[in-house]
Amino acid sequence: MKKLMAANWKMHKTATEAEETAREVVRLLDGKLAGDRSVLIFPPFTAIQAVAAVLSGRPGYYWGGQNFHPKDEGAFTGEVSPEMLLDLGCSYALAGHSERRWVFGESDELVGEKVAFGLQKGLRMVLCIGEKLEERKADKVEEVISRQLEAGLAGVNEDVAPESLAVAYEPVWAIGTGEVAGPEEISEAHTQTRVKLRELLGNTADQIPILYGGSVKPANAEQIMELDNVDGVLVGGASLAADSFSGIVPA
Ligand code: PEP
Repeated sequence: MKKLMAANWKMHKTATEAEETAREVVRLLDGKLAGDRSVLIFPPFTAIQAVAAVLSGRPGYYWGGQNFHPKDEGAFTGEVSPEMLLDLGCSYALAGHSERRWVFGESDELVGEKVAFGLQKGLRMVLCIGEKLEERKADKVEEVISRQLEAGLAGVNEDVAPESLAVAYEPVWAIGTGEVAGPEEISEAHTQTRVKLRELLGNTADQIPILYGGSVKPANAEQIMELDNVDGVLVGGASLAADSFSGIVPA
């Protein structure tokens, strides 16, 4: 299974800035991108085309949308459709990022609808899951992982092409806080995720990458990548600067 090294630029960078950063990432990684690793960038919608122009035609580089609305078209002011993302060459989209869940109030069910609709339309989906601090303190990590995977994958079965799905375990308390989950916390949550994926998707589960996200940076990335059931990372803050993201990507 290919490792996915993903950058989530959130609501950062104009198209011009995004193009510059993407160019610099490619330059810094020239000859250094391991054959078993792919780079995936999620720019804001307005910068997708600029990033696509840089990454297009480069093996091992992909880009995607941070969000979409699960409908073909219609009166949905402010939203974009999977087809609009595909038209810009996007291969991937995120669903269930904690900021979508907790800032914009997306339910587990809506996340599941997005995953199913995106896959049906030909996007590869990265389903983000993860517990809040109070849920960890209440010993509910496994319960949250189970619930979010069940709902997020409600429209997916074991016939899914494994390369079209990834899960990102991102404990909410570790996102953008500088607080990284410890190796045991990551290993435990990723094992629980794999076990639940097997229950939901049978043997296909073993080919689905499970990424870790939450304050990943160059200094801790390789240590995290060495853990069992960690098949990549989803990086926010440390992906915004090309030198720091390119310090995370290579093996
Ligand atoms: C994220 O937004 O998915 C994320 C993990 O952010 P950060 O790396 O800044 O914690």
